[in-house]
Amino acid sequence: MAASVESSVAAEPSCLICNGSVRPRYGLPGLSRRFSLETVATVSWCDVCDVGFLFPRPSPEANALLYDEYFDRKNRGAALSVRPHPTLLNRLRVHLAYRLDWGSGSQIDLIRKHVSQGEVDMCEIGCGTGDMLSAFARAGFRTVGVEPTASAIRQAREKGLEVLAGSAEELPAALPRAAFDIVLLTQVLEHCHDPIRAIRGALSLLRPRGVLAVDVPNCGSFQFRDRGMDWFHADPGRHVNYFTPGALQALMGRVGAEVLDRYYYQYLDHFLEERIEVERVGWERTQRGEGSSEPSGSPPVSRLRLLGTLARTCFLPHDQKYGLVGVIARRVGTV
Ligand SMILES: [Zn+2]
Repeated sequence: MAASVESSVAAEPSCLICNGSVRPRYGLPGLSRRFSLETVATVSWCDVCDVGFLFPRPSPEANALLYDEYFDRKNRGAALSVRPHPTLLNRLRVHLAYRLDWGSGSQIDLIRKHVSQGEVDMCEIGCGTGDMLSAFARAGFRTVGVEPTASAIRQAREKGLEVLAGSAEELPAALPRAAFDIVLLTQVLEHCHDPIRAIRGALSLLRPRGVLAVDVPNCGSFQFRDRGMDWFHADPGRHVNYFTPGALQALMGRVGAEVLDRYYYQYLDHFLEERIEVERVGWERTQRGEGSSEPSGSPPVSRLRLLGTLARTCFLPHDQKYGLVGVIARRVGTV
């Protein structure tokens, strides 16, 4: 890992997909305050691929600090001790957002459409504490997980799951190649210092007609446009890549994979009290960190104005409405 991180730090950034030229889109001096690191970074953007990435990448030492504990959505909310405010206005907002959330349902149902009946072997890379993997196991899939964080592996194994230590970029040697019908990477690629290597590794695990399901935060969404680097899913430092639906398409083309299907989810979450509070804290920290080449999101809005956001966004096309975008892809050539 250390070697590939070091080699990725070039003097001039170039696009991680097409190697073309990029422009600095966000300056992040606030990153050092946010994570008590001495890092000053920019998010560089390729307008051809519509993809962004943190430059320079966090050093291996900074990375170790950023990942010193497994940090899932539940932990983030708990860390802030957020209590929902059960006012009428908040309940109305959440109820409306729930009714207007027409994103994809279960990933299991989505994926099942693309695999043949019978015994199905699936591998989730970056399985965390195993919630998704458990759901697949309960649905009758034979599952194996891969996860880098020791505490998360322990929790997943306590659920009776088979989980190997490793990551998308450093697959465990014990994991069989060309042995799975499904490989799942859910909210993983945005963490990878070398996403091309991660996707190639994931494709190498597939049987000839196997499918890869990859989802990432959608930086083509109004959610990212409105909140900038304070967006819940921007999470700079831990996240080092910023994808859009177009970027996922370009990435799959680069590694010789064909996109079979596309899915979108997470609209309701943008309007939940817990999410709003996390973004408010992020915004305040960014303010203390000073400047940005683009506005780093707008100040926290009133709960009433969020109802306006609902009205403005509920009929947007899926690629602009939803906070997460996924593709189901199949290998077509030599990876
Ligand atoms: Zn590019």
